Amino acid sequence: MIKTPEQYVESLRDGRIVYQDGELIKDIPTRYEASVNRAAGEFWLAHQPDTKKLFAMEEDGEEIAFSFKIPETGEDIQRRREITQTLNHWNLGGARLTGIDSLNGVAHACTVLDKAMGTNYSENMKKYRAWCKKNDPGICAAVSDPKGNRKLHAEDPKQAHKDFYVRLKEKTKDGIIITGCKLHISDAILSNELIVLPSRNHNEGGKEYAVACAVSCGTPGVKFLATTGSRNGGHPMIIFDDVFVPWERVFMAGEWQFSRLFATSFARYHRLTASTYKAIQLQGVAGLARLMAEMNGLTHATRIQDHLAWLAMYADVTDALAKAAALSPVYDQGTGFAIPNPVYTNAAKYWFASQWHEAMKYLQDITGGIAATMPSMKDWENPETKGYIEKYLRGASEYSTEDRMKAIAQVINLGSCAQGVLSIHAEGSLSTQRMVIYQMADWDRLKARAKRTLGMPVDHPAFKDLPTEPPWAMPASMLKK
Ligand SMILES: Cc1cc2nc3c(=O)[nH]c(=O)nc-3n(C[C@H](O)[C@H](O)[C@H](O)COP(=O)(O)OP(=O)(O)OC[C@H]3O[C@@H](n4cnc5c(N)ncnc54)[C@H](O)[C@@H]3O)c2cc1C
Repeated sequence: MIKTPEQYVESLRDGRIVYQDGELIKDIPTRYEASVNRAAGEFWLAHQPDTKKLFAMEEDGEEIAFSFKIPETGEDIQRRREITQTLNHWNLGGARLTGIDSLNGVAHACTVLDKAMGTNYSENMKKYRAWCKKNDPGICAAVSDPKGNRKLHAEDPKQAHKDFYVRLKEKTKDGIIITGCKLHISDAILSNELIVLPSRNHNEGGKEYAVACAVSCGTPGVKFLATTGSRNGGHPMIIFDDVFVPWERVFMAGEWQFSRLFATSFARYHRLTASTYKAIQLQGVAGLARLMAEMNGLTHATRIQDHLAWLAMYADVTDALAKAAALSPVYDQGTGFAIPNPVYTNAAKYWFASQWHEAMKYLQDITGGIAATMPSMKDWENPETKGYIEKYLRGASEYSTEDRMKAIAQVINLGSCAQGVLSIHAEGSLSTQRMVIYQMADWDRLKARAKRTLGMPVDHPAFKDLPTEPPWAMPASMLKK
Protein backbone atom coordinates (compact mmCIF):
# COMPACT_ATOMS: atom_id res chain seq x y z
CA MET A 1 0.00 0.00 0.00
CA ILE A 2 0.96 3.62 -0.29
CA LYS A 3 0.30 5.74 2.77
CA THR A 4 -1.83 8.84 2.55
CA PRO A 5 -0.28 12.04 3.95
CA GLU A 6 -2.71 11.75 6.88
CA GLN A 7 -1.57 8.19 7.66
CA TYR A 8 2.05 9.34 7.51
CA VAL A 9 1.41 12.16 10.01
CA GLU A 10 -0.36 9.78 12.41
CA SER A 11 2.50 7.28 12.11
CA LEU A 12 4.84 9.80 13.75
CA ARG A 13 2.72 9.61 16.92
CA ASP A 14 4.28 6.32 18.02
CA GLY A 15 5.50 7.29 21.47
CA ARG A 16 9.03 8.16 20.32
CA ILE A 17 11.22 10.12 22.72
CA VAL A 18 12.64 13.32 21.23
CA TYR A 19 14.50 16.11 23.03
CA GLN A 20 15.40 19.43 21.46
CA ASP A 21 17.03 22.49 23.04
CA GLY A 22 16.32 21.21 26.54
CA GLU A 23 12.68 20.30 25.89
CA LEU A 24 10.97 16.89 25.64
CA ILE A 25 8.82 17.19 22.50
CA LYS A 26 5.16 16.46 23.22
CA ASP A 27 3.83 15.97 19.71
CA ILE A 28 6.13 15.56 16.70
CA PRO A 29 3.71 16.75 13.95
CA THR A 30 2.84 19.88 15.95
CA ARG A 31 6.42 20.77 16.94
CA TYR A 32 7.86 20.22 13.44
CA GLU A 33 4.73 21.18 11.48
CA ALA A 34 6.34 22.72 8.37
CA SER A 35 8.86 19.88 7.95
CA VAL A 36 6.24 17.19 8.55
CA ASN A 37 4.08 18.81 5.85
CA ARG A 38 7.05 18.73 3.46
CA ALA A 39 7.77 15.07 4.27
CA ALA A 40 4.07 14.20 3.92
CA GLY A 41 4.29 15.70 0.42
CA GLU A 42 6.14 12.57 -0.75
CA PHE A 43 3.05 10.49 0.07
CA TRP A 44 0.78 13.11 -1.49
CA LEU A 45 2.79 13.07 -4.75
CA ALA A 46 2.56 9.27 -4.86
CA HIS A 47 -1.23 9.63 -5.09
CA GLN A 48 -1.36 12.35 -7.79
CA PRO A 49 -2.07 11.04 -11.32
CA ASP A 50 0.96 12.79 -12.93
CA THR A 51 3.56 11.73 -10.38
CA LYS A 52 2.06 8.40 -9.36
CA LYS A 53 3.56 6.67 -12.39
CA LEU A 54 7.02 7.66 -11.16
CA PHE A 55 6.51 7.04 -7.42
CA ALA A 56 4.32 3.93 -7.47
CA MET A 57 4.34 0.49 -9.07
CA GLU A 58 2.18 -2.59 -8.98
CA GLU A 59 3.38 -5.90 -7.59
CA ASP A 60 1.18 -8.97 -7.20
CA GLY A 61 -1.89 -6.81 -7.69
CA GLU A 62 -0.84 -4.45 -4.87
CA GLU A 63 0.17 -0.84 -5.30
CA ILE A 64 3.54 -0.19 -3.63
CA ALA A 65 6.15 2.57 -3.48
CA PHE A 66 8.69 2.04 -6.27
CA SER A 67 11.44 2.94 -3.79
CA PHE A 68 11.07 -0.45 -2.11
CA LYS A 69 11.82 -2.38 -5.31
CA ILE A 70 15.21 -4.14 -5.41
CA PRO A 71 17.37 -2.24 -7.94
CA GLU A 72 18.06 -4.74 -10.72
CA THR A 73 19.01 -2.43 -13.59
CA GLY A 74 20.61 0.94 -14.19
CA GLU A 75 17.14 2.20 -15.15
CA ASP A 76 15.84 1.22 -11.68
CA ILE A 77 18.63 3.27 -10.09
CA GLN A 78 17.97 6.17 -12.43
CA ARG A 79 14.25 6.08 -11.55
CA ARG A 80 15.15 6.42 -7.87
CA ARG A 81 17.22 9.48 -8.86
CA GLU A 82 14.20 10.92 -10.66
CA ILE A 83 12.07 10.40 -7.55
CA THR A 84 14.66 12.21 -5.43
CA GLN A 85 14.98 15.04 -7.95
CA THR A 86 11.21 15.39 -8.28
CA LEU A 87 10.95 15.71 -4.50
CA ASN A 88 13.70 18.34 -4.54
CA HIS A 89 12.03 20.14 -7.42
CA TRP A 90 8.84 20.41 -5.34
CA ASN A 91 10.84 21.15 -2.17
CA LEU A 92 9.28 18.09 -0.51
CA GLY A 93 10.45 14.90 1.17
CA GLY A 94 12.57 13.88 4.15
CA ALA A 95 10.84 10.74 5.40
CA ARG A 96 13.15 8.45 3.45
CA LEU A 97 16.11 10.56 2.37
CA THR A 98 18.77 8.02 3.33
CA GLY A 99 16.83 4.88 4.25
CA ILE A 100 16.37 3.27 0.85
CA ASP A 101 20.16 3.34 0.43
CA SER A 102 20.59 1.48 3.71
CA LEU A 103 17.82 -0.99 2.83
CA ASN A 104 19.51 -1.84 -0.49
CA GLY A 105 23.06 -1.73 0.89
CA VAL A 106 22.20 -4.04 3.80
CA ALA A 107 20.11 -6.35 1.58
CA HIS A 108 23.05 -6.78 -0.79
CA ALA A 109 25.58 -7.25 2.03
CA CYS A 110 23.56 -9.82 3.99
CA THR A 111 22.98 -11.88 0.83
CA VAL A 112 26.75 -12.03 0.32
CA LEU A 113 27.20 -12.86 4.03
CA ASP A 114 24.67 -15.72 3.85
CA LYS A 115 26.38 -17.25 0.82
CA ALA A 116 29.72 -17.24 2.61
CA MET A 117 28.60 -18.31 6.10
CA GLY A 118 25.43 -20.34 5.51
CA THR A 119 23.38 -17.93 7.65
CA ASN A 120 19.82 -16.88 6.92
CA TYR A 121 19.77 -13.10 7.26
CA SER A 122 18.65 -12.44 3.69
CA GLU A 123 15.39 -14.27 4.46
CA ASN A 124 14.84 -11.75 7.30
CA MET A 125 15.59 -8.97 4.85
CA LYS A 126 13.14 -10.34 2.27
CA LYS A 127 10.40 -10.42 4.90
CA TYR A 128 11.34 -6.96 6.13
CA ARG A 129 11.22 -5.56 2.58
CA ALA A 130 7.80 -7.21 2.10
CA TRP A 131 6.68 -5.55 5.36
CA CYS A 132 7.95 -2.19 4.02
CA LYS A 133 6.01 -2.67 0.78
CA LYS A 134 2.88 -3.35 2.80
CA ASN A 135 3.29 -0.55 5.38
CA ASP A 136 5.15 2.15 3.37
CA PRO A 137 7.29 3.48 6.25
CA GLY A 138 9.60 6.48 6.27
CA ILE A 139 13.03 4.95 6.69
CA CYS A 140 16.51 6.25 7.43
CA ALA A 141 20.12 5.08 7.70
CA ALA A 142 21.72 5.08 11.16
CA VAL A 143 25.37 4.43 10.32
CA SER A 144 27.79 6.96 11.85
CA ASP A 145 29.12 6.07 15.30
CA PRO A 146 30.67 8.56 17.74
CA LYS A 147 33.99 6.61 17.38
CA GLY A 148 35.88 8.13 20.36
CA ASN A 149 39.59 7.98 19.56
CA ARG A 150 39.61 7.47 15.78
CA LYS A 151 43.00 5.75 15.82
CA LEU A 152 41.73 2.95 18.04
CA HIS A 153 39.42 0.06 17.29
CA ALA A 154 36.07 -0.09 19.11
CA GLU A 155 37.16 -2.79 21.55
CA ASP A 156 40.59 -1.29 22.32
CA PRO A 157 40.93 -0.95 26.10
CA LYS A 158 42.57 2.46 25.54
CA GLN A 159 39.17 3.82 24.38
CA ALA A 160 37.51 5.82 27.19
CA HIS A 161 34.62 3.30 27.16
CA LYS A 162 33.41 0.45 25.00
CA ASP A 163 30.22 2.02 23.63
CA PHE A 164 31.67 4.36 20.99
CA TYR A 165 30.22 2.04 18.34
CA VAL A 166 26.75 0.46 18.55
CA ARG A 167 27.20 -3.06 19.85
CA LEU A 168 25.33 -6.28 20.31
CA LYS A 169 25.13 -6.63 24.06
CA GLU A 170 23.17 -9.85 24.31
CA LYS A 171 21.62 -12.55 22.15
CA THR A 172 18.39 -14.09 23.47
CA LYS A 173 16.06 -16.75 22.14
CA ASP A 174 13.79 -14.05 20.66
CA GLY A 175 16.25 -11.47 19.47
CA ILE A 176 19.22 -9.26 20.32
CA ILE A 177 19.81 -6.33 22.65
CA ILE A 178 21.83 -3.43 21.26
CA THR A 179 23.39 -0.49 23.05
CA GLY A 180 25.26 2.63 21.92
CA CYS A 181 24.68 5.78 19.91
CA LYS A 182 24.51 6.91 16.29
CA LEU A 183 25.33 10.52 15.37
CA HIS A 184 24.15 12.99 12.72
CA ILE A 185 21.23 10.85 11.48
CA SER A 186 19.52 13.10 8.92
CA ASP A 187 15.77 13.62 9.16
CA ALA A 188 15.51 10.64 11.53
CA ILE A 189 12.73 12.29 13.51
CA LEU A 190 10.57 12.48 10.36
CA SER A 191 11.05 8.78 9.76
CA ASN A 192 9.47 5.56 11.05
CA GLU A 193 12.32 3.09 10.77
CA LEU A 194 16.04 3.22 11.53
CA ILE A 195 18.29 0.81 9.65
CA VAL A 196 21.27 0.37 11.97
CA LEU A 197 24.53 -0.81 10.39
CA PRO A 198 28.26 -0.56 11.14
CA SER A 199 30.19 2.51 10.00
CA ARG A 200 33.48 0.63 9.51
CA ASN A 201 35.29 -2.71 9.57
CA HIS A 202 35.69 -4.55 12.90
CA ASN A 203 38.17 -7.25 13.90
CA GLU A 204 37.38 -10.60 15.43
CA GLY A 205 38.06 -9.06 18.86
CA GLY A 206 35.34 -6.51 18.09
CA LYS A 207 32.75 -8.86 16.65
CA GLU A 208 30.05 -7.56 19.00
CA TYR A 209 30.17 -4.32 16.95
CA ALA A 210 29.30 -6.15 13.73
CA VAL A 211 25.55 -5.66 14.00
CA ALA A 212 22.87 -4.63 11.50
CA CYS A 213 19.13 -4.48 12.18
CA ALA A 214 15.93 -2.48 11.71
CA VAL A 215 14.54 -0.56 14.68
CA SER A 216 11.25 1.37 14.74
CA CYS A 217 11.59 4.94 16.03
CA GLY A 218 9.15 4.36 18.88
CA THR A 219 10.92 1.25 20.27
CA PRO A 220 11.55 1.43 24.04
CA GLY A 221 15.14 2.55 24.74
CA VAL A 222 15.47 4.68 21.57
CA LYS A 223 15.98 8.40 22.33
CA PHE A 224 16.56 11.23 19.87
CA LEU A 225 18.55 14.37 20.73
CA ALA A 226 17.72 16.81 17.91
CA THR A 227 20.14 19.31 16.35
CA THR A 228 20.05 22.61 18.21
CA GLY A 229 17.89 25.31 16.66
CA SER A 230 16.70 23.05 13.82
CA ARG A 231 13.17 23.31 12.40
CA ASN A 232 12.89 19.59 11.56
CA GLY A 233 14.98 17.97 14.29
CA GLY A 234 17.97 18.19 11.93
CA HIS A 235 20.50 15.37 12.13
CA PRO A 236 19.91 14.03 15.64
CA MET A 237 22.01 11.99 17.98
CA ILE A 238 20.17 8.69 18.58
CA ILE A 239 20.70 6.77 21.80
CA PHE A 240 20.09 3.02 21.88
CA ASP A 241 19.68 2.24 25.54
CA ASP A 242 19.49 -1.57 25.69
CA VAL A 243 17.08 -1.80 22.77
CA PHE A 244 15.50 -5.18 22.06
CA VAL A 245 15.37 -6.17 18.37
CA PRO A 246 13.51 -9.38 17.41
CA TRP A 247 15.48 -11.85 15.25
CA GLU A 248 13.32 -11.25 12.18
CA ARG A 249 14.68 -7.67 12.10
CA VAL A 250 18.35 -8.67 12.44
CA PHE A 251 20.61 -8.71 9.35
CA MET A 252 24.02 -9.34 10.95
CA ALA A 253 24.90 -10.37 14.49
CA GLY A 254 28.62 -10.81 15.05
CA GLU A 255 29.95 -11.77 11.58
CA TRP A 256 32.80 -9.27 11.87
CA GLN A 257 34.37 -10.24 8.50
CA PHE A 258 31.40 -8.58 6.74
CA SER A 259 31.24 -5.39 8.74
CA ARG A 260 33.13 -3.37 6.13
CA LEU A 261 30.95 -4.75 3.34
CA PHE A 262 27.79 -3.47 5.07
CA ALA A 263 29.32 0.01 5.35
CA THR A 264 30.65 0.20 1.78
CA SER A 265 27.59 -1.39 0.21
CA PHE A 266 25.42 1.31 1.84
CA ALA A 267 27.87 4.08 0.87
CA ARG A 268 27.73 3.18 -2.83
CA TYR A 269 23.99 3.71 -2.96
CA HIS A 270 24.07 6.64 -0.60
CA ARG A 271 26.73 8.73 -2.32
CA LEU A 272 24.61 8.56 -5.45
CA THR A 273 21.56 9.86 -3.55
CA ALA A 274 23.73 12.67 -2.18
CA SER A 275 25.01 13.69 -5.62
CA THR A 276 21.45 13.50 -6.92
CA TYR A 277 19.86 15.90 -4.45
CA LYS A 278 22.99 18.07 -4.41
CA ALA A 279 22.82 18.63 -8.17
CA ILE A 280 19.40 20.26 -7.69
CA GLN A 281 20.69 22.34 -4.76
CA LEU A 282 23.65 23.47 -6.88
CA GLN A 283 21.28 24.61 -9.63
CA GLY A 284 19.77 26.81 -6.93
CA VAL A 285 23.23 28.12 -5.97
CA ALA A 286 24.00 29.04 -9.60
CA GLY A 287 20.57 30.69 -9.90
CA LEU A 288 21.10 32.63 -6.67
CA ALA A 289 24.48 33.90 -7.93
CA ARG A 290 22.87 35.09 -11.17
CA LEU A 291 20.06 36.76 -9.22
CA MET A 292 22.57 38.52 -6.94
CA ALA A 293 24.53 39.64 -10.02
CA GLU A 294 21.33 41.11 -11.51
CA MET A 295 20.35 42.73 -8.21
CA ASN A 296 23.79 44.32 -7.96
CA GLY A 297 23.93 45.36 -11.65
CA LEU A 298 26.94 43.20 -12.41
CA THR A 299 25.88 40.93 -15.26
CA HIS A 300 27.86 42.97 -17.85
CA ALA A 301 31.19 42.24 -16.14
CA THR A 302 33.09 39.39 -17.84
CA ARG A 303 34.78 38.47 -14.55
CA ILE A 304 31.35 37.92 -12.99
CA GLN A 305 30.19 35.96 -16.08
CA ASP A 306 33.21 33.68 -15.55
CA HIS A 307 32.07 33.01 -11.97
CA LEU A 308 28.53 32.30 -13.17
CA ALA A 309 29.71 29.94 -15.89
CA TRP A 310 31.75 28.02 -13.33
CA LEU A 311 28.74 27.73 -11.00
CA ALA A 312 26.48 26.43 -13.79
CA MET A 313 29.16 23.89 -14.73
CA TYR A 314 29.52 22.87 -11.07
CA ALA A 315 25.85 21.82 -11.02
CA ASP A 316 25.95 20.19 -14.47
CA VAL A 317 29.08 18.10 -13.80
CA THR A 318 27.62 16.84 -10.50
CA ASP A 319 24.43 15.78 -12.27
CA ALA A 320 26.28 14.23 -15.23
CA LEU A 321 28.56 12.14 -12.99
CA ALA A 322 25.59 10.95 -10.92
CA LYS A 323 23.63 10.02 -14.04
CA ALA A 324 26.62 8.10 -15.40
CA ALA A 325 26.90 6.27 -12.05
CA ALA A 326 23.25 5.21 -12.27
CA LEU A 327 23.28 4.17 -15.91
CA SER A 328 26.67 2.37 -15.85
CA PRO A 329 26.05 0.23 -12.77
CA VAL A 330 27.96 -2.76 -11.54
CA TYR A 331 25.86 -5.94 -11.71
CA ASP A 332 26.53 -8.24 -8.78
CA GLN A 333 26.26 -11.70 -10.30
CA GLY A 334 25.81 -13.45 -6.96
CA THR A 335 22.88 -11.37 -5.73
CA GLY A 336 21.32 -9.85 -8.86
CA PHE A 337 21.62 -6.34 -7.40
CA ALA A 338 22.48 -3.39 -9.66
CA ILE A 339 24.88 -1.15 -7.73
CA PRO A 340 25.76 2.41 -8.76
CA ASN A 341 29.12 2.57 -10.51
CA PRO A 342 31.46 3.01 -7.53
CA VAL A 343 34.03 5.18 -9.32
CA TYR A 344 31.51 7.61 -10.82
CA THR A 345 29.49 7.74 -7.57
CA ASN A 346 32.50 8.55 -5.45
CA ALA A 347 33.80 11.00 -8.06
CA ALA A 348 30.40 12.78 -8.06
CA LYS A 349 30.33 13.09 -4.26
CA TYR A 350 34.01 14.14 -4.10
CA TRP A 351 33.53 16.72 -6.87
CA PHE A 352 30.61 18.52 -5.25
CA ALA A 353 31.99 18.32 -1.71
CA SER A 354 35.52 19.41 -2.57
CA GLN A 355 34.32 22.36 -4.67
CA TRP A 356 31.69 23.72 -2.25
CA HIS A 357 33.98 26.33 -0.68
CA GLU A 358 35.13 27.44 -4.15
CA ALA A 359 31.46 27.92 -5.09
CA MET A 360 30.84 29.95 -1.92
CA LYS A 361 33.87 32.11 -2.73
CA TYR A 362 32.28 33.08 -6.07
CA LEU A 363 28.83 33.57 -4.56
CA GLN A 364 30.18 35.76 -1.75
CA ASP A 365 32.35 37.71 -4.18
CA ILE A 366 29.31 38.55 -6.34
CA THR A 367 27.16 39.43 -3.30
CA GLY A 368 29.61 41.88 -1.72
CA GLY A 369 30.45 42.73 1.88
CA ILE A 370 26.79 43.08 2.86
CA ALA A 371 26.76 39.28 3.30
CA ALA A 372 28.87 39.88 6.43
CA THR A 373 27.30 43.10 7.71
CA MET A 374 23.57 43.07 6.90
CA PRO A 375 21.25 44.50 9.61
CA SER A 376 18.73 42.10 11.11
CA MET A 377 15.33 41.33 9.57
CA LYS A 378 14.01 42.59 12.94
CA ASP A 379 15.34 46.06 12.00
CA TRP A 380 13.53 45.62 8.70
CA GLU A 381 10.30 45.02 10.63
CA ASN A 382 10.92 48.00 12.98
CA PRO A 383 9.19 51.13 11.51
CA GLU A 384 11.92 53.35 13.02
CA THR A 385 14.65 51.74 10.92
CA LYS A 386 12.85 50.12 7.99
CA GLY A 387 12.92 53.29 5.84
CA TYR A 388 16.71 53.53 5.95
CA ILE A 389 17.13 49.90 4.99
CA GLU A 390 14.50 50.21 2.25
CA LYS A 391 16.30 53.21 0.78
CA TYR A 392 19.96 52.31 1.09
CA LEU A 393 20.00 48.55 0.63
CA ARG A 394 18.10 48.67 -2.65
CA GLY A 395 20.09 47.37 -5.62
CA ALA A 396 18.98 47.47 -9.26
CA SER A 397 15.49 48.98 -9.45
CA GLU A 398 13.86 45.88 -11.02
CA TYR A 399 14.12 44.19 -7.61
CA SER A 400 12.65 45.25 -4.28
CA THR A 401 14.87 45.81 -1.25
CA GLU A 402 13.05 43.01 0.55
CA ASP A 403 13.85 40.49 -2.21
CA ARG A 404 17.49 41.58 -2.21
CA MET A 405 17.63 41.12 1.57
CA LYS A 406 16.14 37.62 1.26
CA ALA A 407 18.73 36.72 -1.37
CA ILE A 408 21.55 38.06 0.83
CA ALA A 409 20.19 36.08 3.80
CA GLN A 410 20.33 32.93 1.67
CA VAL A 411 23.95 33.68 0.70
CA ILE A 412 24.73 34.01 4.44
CA ASN A 413 22.99 30.68 5.15
CA LEU A 414 24.72 28.80 2.33
CA GLY A 415 28.11 30.21 3.32
CA SER A 416 27.64 29.20 6.96
CA CYS A 417 29.91 26.81 8.75
CA ALA A 418 27.06 24.26 9.05
CA GLN A 419 26.51 24.10 5.27
CA GLY A 420 30.26 23.85 4.61
CA VAL A 421 30.64 21.01 7.12
CA LEU A 422 27.56 19.29 5.70
CA SER A 423 29.06 19.33 2.20
CA ILE A 424 32.40 17.95 3.33
CA HIS A 425 31.31 15.35 5.89
CA ALA A 426 27.74 14.21 5.12
CA GLU A 427 27.89 10.89 3.19
CA GLY A 428 31.50 10.39 4.35
CA SER A 429 34.44 12.79 4.52
CA LEU A 430 36.56 13.46 1.43
CA SER A 431 39.25 10.89 2.15
CA THR A 432 36.72 8.03 1.99
CA GLN A 433 35.85 8.85 -1.62
CA ARG A 434 39.52 9.23 -2.59
CA MET A 435 40.23 5.87 -0.96
CA VAL A 436 37.50 4.11 -2.98
CA ILE A 437 38.58 5.75 -6.23
CA TYR A 438 42.21 4.79 -5.57
CA GLN A 439 41.22 1.18 -4.82
CA MET A 440 38.91 0.89 -7.82
CA ALA A 441 41.18 2.53 -10.42
CA ASP A 442 42.46 0.05 -13.00
CA TRP A 443 46.10 1.03 -12.58
CA ASP A 444 47.36 -1.66 -15.00
CA ARG A 445 45.18 -0.27 -17.76
CA LEU A 446 46.09 3.34 -16.94
CA LYS A 447 49.79 2.48 -16.95
CA ALA A 448 49.38 0.59 -20.23
CA ARG A 449 47.73 3.67 -21.76
CA ALA A 450 50.73 5.79 -20.73
CA LYS A 451 53.22 3.18 -21.97
CA ARG A 452 51.53 3.01 -25.36
CA THR A 453 51.72 6.78 -25.68
CA LEU A 454 55.42 6.60 -24.81
CA GLY A 455 56.03 3.82 -27.33
CA MET A 456 57.06 1.35 -24.58
CA PRO A 457 56.21 -2.36 -24.90
CA VAL A 458 52.70 -3.07 -23.58
CA ASP A 459 51.40 -6.50 -22.57
CA HIS A 460 47.97 -5.35 -21.27
CA PRO A 461 45.21 -7.27 -23.13
CA ALA A 462 43.40 -4.05 -24.13
CA PHE A 463 46.48 -2.73 -25.93
CA LYS A 464 48.88 -5.56 -26.72
CA ASP A 465 47.41 -6.49 -30.12
CA LEU A 466 47.01 -2.91 -31.33
CA PRO A 467 49.47 -1.95 -34.04
CA THR A 468 52.04 0.64 -33.04
CA GLU A 469 51.67 2.36 -36.41
CA PRO A 470 48.33 3.58 -37.94
CA PRO A 471 46.63 0.60 -39.65
CA TRP A 472 46.19 2.53 -42.85
CA ALA A 473 48.85 4.60 -44.60
CA MET A 474 48.58 6.78 -47.68
CA PRO A 475 49.89 5.03 -50.74
CA ALA A 476 52.97 6.63 -52.31
CA SER A 477 50.76 7.93 -55.18
CA MET A 478 48.95 10.26 -52.74
CA LEU A 479 52.12 11.82 -51.45
CA LYS A 480 53.64 14.89 -53.05
CA LYS A 481 57.22 14.23 -52.16
C1 LIG B 1 24.86 17.30 8.01
C2 LIG B 1 25.29 15.87 8.15
C3 LIG B 1 24.38 14.86 7.88
C4 LIG B 1 24.72 13.52 8.08
N1 LIG B 1 23.78 12.54 7.89
C5 LIG B 1 24.07 11.26 8.24
C6 LIG B 1 23.06 10.24 8.20
O1 LIG B 1 21.93 10.47 7.80
N2 LIG B 1 23.38 8.98 8.61
C7 LIG B 1 24.63 8.68 9.05
O2 LIG B 1 24.85 7.53 9.42
N3 LIG B 1 25.61 9.62 9.10
C8 LIG B 1 25.36 10.89 8.71
N4 LIG B 1 26.34 11.87 8.75
C9 LIG B 1 27.66 11.50 9.27
C10 LIG B 1 28.80 11.56 8.28
O3 LIG B 1 28.80 10.40 7.47
C11 LIG B 1 30.08 11.73 9.11
O4 LIG B 1 30.07 13.05 9.64
C12 LIG B 1 31.33 11.49 8.29
O5 LIG B 1 31.44 10.12 7.97
C13 LIG B 1 32.58 11.93 9.06
O6 LIG B 1 32.63 11.31 10.33
P1 LIG B 1 32.89 12.22 11.62
O7 LIG B 1 31.94 13.35 11.62
O8 LIG B 1 32.92 11.32 12.81
O9 LIG B 1 34.32 12.83 11.40
P2 LIG B 1 35.72 12.06 11.50
O10 LIG B 1 35.56 10.64 11.02
O11 LIG B 1 36.28 12.27 12.85
O12 LIG B 1 36.54 12.84 10.44
C14 LIG B 1 37.35 14.00 10.69
C15 LIG B 1 38.64 13.85 9.87
O13 LIG B 1 39.40 12.78 10.42
C16 LIG B 1 39.78 11.86 9.40
N5 LIG B 1 39.88 10.54 10.03
C17 LIG B 1 38.92 9.90 10.75
N6 LIG B 1 39.38 8.72 11.22
C18 LIG B 1 40.66 8.60 10.79
C19 LIG B 1 41.69 7.61 10.96
N7 LIG B 1 41.48 6.49 11.66
N8 LIG B 1 42.89 7.85 10.38
C20 LIG B 1 43.11 8.99 9.66
N9 LIG B 1 42.17 9.96 9.47
C21 LIG B 1 40.98 9.78 10.03
C22 LIG B 1 38.67 11.99 8.35
O14 LIG B 1 39.07 11.55 7.06
C23 LIG B 1 38.39 13.48 8.39
O15 LIG B 1 39.33 14.17 7.59
C24 LIG B 1 26.03 13.20 8.52
C25 LIG B 1 26.96 14.23 8.73
C26 LIG B 1 26.60 15.54 8.56
C27 LIG B 1 27.62 16.62 8.82
